[in-house]
Amino acid sequence: MFDYCPNLEKLKPYSVDEADWDIKLDANESPCNLPPLVRERILERMDYLAFNRYPDIEGRDLRVALAEGLGLTWQQVAIGNGSSELLLALCQLFGGPGRSIAFPTPSFSMYGIYAQVTGSKALSIPLALEEVFDRDAVVAAVRKEDAKLLLLCNPNNPTGAVIDQEDIEYILTQVSCPVVVDEAYYEFYGKSSIKLLGEYENLIITRTFSKAYGLAATRAGYLMGNPEVVRLLEKVLMPYHVNAITQIAAETVWLMRDQFEATIRQIVVERKRMADALKELPGIEVYPSQTNFLLLKVAAHKICLENLAAAQIAVRAMGTGVLTNCLRVTVGTPIENDAFLTAMRKIAGGQL
Ligand code: PMP
Repeated sequence: MFDYCPNLEKLKPYSVDEADWDIKLDANESPCNLPPLVRERILERMDYLAFNRYPDIEGRDLRVALAEGLGLTWQQVAIGNGSSELLLALCQLFGGPGRSIAFPTPSFSMYGIYAQVTGSKALSIPLALEEVFDRDAVVAAVRKEDAKLLLLCNPNNPTGAVIDQEDIEYILTQVSCPVVVDEAYYEFYGKSSIKLLGEYENLIITRTFSKAYGLAATRAGYLMGNPEVVRLLEKVLMPYHVNAITQIAAETVWLMRDQFEATIRQIVVERKRMADALKELPGIEVYPSQTNFLLLKVAAHKICLENLAAAQIAVRAMGTGVLTNCLRVTVGTPIENDAFLTAMRKIAGGQL
């Protein structure tokens, strides 16, 4: 009925099953609300907020705080409504009609969507699940299509796999387009490409407060890169795009980030406990993960999903191709993980 943008005709909107689950292990969120001291500090600061005023247009305090902690200048840092906004802005800036945006697949599904909504050509580079990262396939695809932007997810969602820093550096030397390393799950891995920023002008890194730092509700993310890229992004980002509440929450969380270390460590320990327990079960393959989730290939995929849903446990069912029969489960609290493992043992034993 409506005559709308033709790029969007075939696009399926991102959708999630928002039922009221008892145990929510489907969105890679932090299983814990903010540490009490951090929450208290944010609420105290909110008391002084001038709600009638637009937020700081440059987001200067948050950018300065991030830059100081990261050993960068604030001009090398941009902030966004979640890293999602920054990824979309990068696609707007470097993509567009007749221009390709490349990304390995399977990876974060929004890369393809952002490429499409910006009218760019989504160039997905299929990579096998079990094999080591094929850096030459990525370089060849970018060169062949003269891609204008390359998106690499490290560690990768939804596989949990990592790309060696050597491979990232190799790619940076082999392609001329900007290369985004999406480090949304960095805190659960501990290795970053940040040290390459000084050497490679085409490197851009994005991170989020939505995972390890438990701020998914306010949406906050940041980008590190060449000051020129940061300035160019102002062409596409809305004025005052990051609201004052988000800026205050993210700055407070960042300045108090030591308060999150225990939970991050617990998630890493729990990730191994879950993986080890799941490997014992028949018909389940567990992929190595450096994130806060595990990718599983389950022979009885449909039955498994039905039984988890009946047990009120939300996980993310993955799609087709190499992810056929896969599901992604977020590492939750030890109690939530126990409930998941109990359900999986029952499913594997055919007792449900
Ligand atoms: N990148 C990756 C790889 C993700 O998994 C996500 C969230 N699922 C994001 C970016 C976006 O996170 P946010 O917008 O909440 O910062």
